[in-house]
Amino acid sequence: MRRKFIAGNWKMNGLKAQLGEVESIAGAASDNSGVDVALCVPFTLIAPAVAAAGSMPVGAQDVHAAQSGAHTGCISAAMLTETGAGLVIVGHSERRADQCESSGDAWAKALAARGAGLHVILCCGETEEERDAGQTEAVVAEQIAAIPGDAHGDWLTIAYEPRWAIGTGKTPTEDEIAATHGAIRAKLGELAGKEAADTIRILYGGSMNPANAAAILALSDVDGGLIGGASLTAEKFVPIIEAAA
Ligand code: PGA
Repeated sequence: MRRKFIAGNWKMNGLKAQLGEVESIAGAASDNSGVDVALCVPFTLIAPAVAAAGSMPVGAQDVHAAQSGAHTGCISAAMLTETGAGLVIVGHSERRADQCESSGDAWAKALAARGAGLHVILCCGETEEERDAGQTEAVVAEQIAAIPGDAHGDWLTIAYEPRWAIGTGKTPTEDEIAATHGAIRAKLGELAGKEAADTIRILYGGSMNPANAAAILALSDVDGGLIGGASLTAEKFVPIIEAAA
């Protein structure tokens, strides 16, 4: 049985002034011990957020694939673990778009993170044009195709985030979400075997909020959410945690 997993993605938001929100969210996480909760914050906020978060894991939103070296401005997986991070998001569509990251890049980062003992949230999701062309399942399958045969839910989570649903207030229908999550589970089964595929949580992301969370979280093969805008305040994030509990 997979435990529900609610992860916040603060993106490029969050100064020390927001640590009170981290504390409140961590309080809700410990009150709802049946659900796993984590918060992925900017690099600069990881250490103070770890100090404020108690036992709630704090994560990053990117990592470099190399262990060290001449990569100006980049952060390695060992650096993340040293700051106290427990997880990292890789392959987010904003990085695929803004930093031209490929699925291969995302996977190289995932392996580096795994090597340093970080839990990995690997993102996938189609554009609106791809969805309209009926290509959703093919696009998502390509984005996760590098997952190795020893993939396991202990270190890997998938986040399905339709690009057109991120930050837009638009979401796919419940049937569409369930169908895509089912297709991802089937693809994971092909790649890692059914038993391991059943351990890997598949989060939905894209305009999840307190009003739609319960219905989305009840869908088959939806094991939680990756939440952007609605994770920035405890007021909006805590009801989503409670909906998963
Ligand atoms: P959103 O972002 O919840 O603001 O749509 C989700 C994400 O990009 O992870």
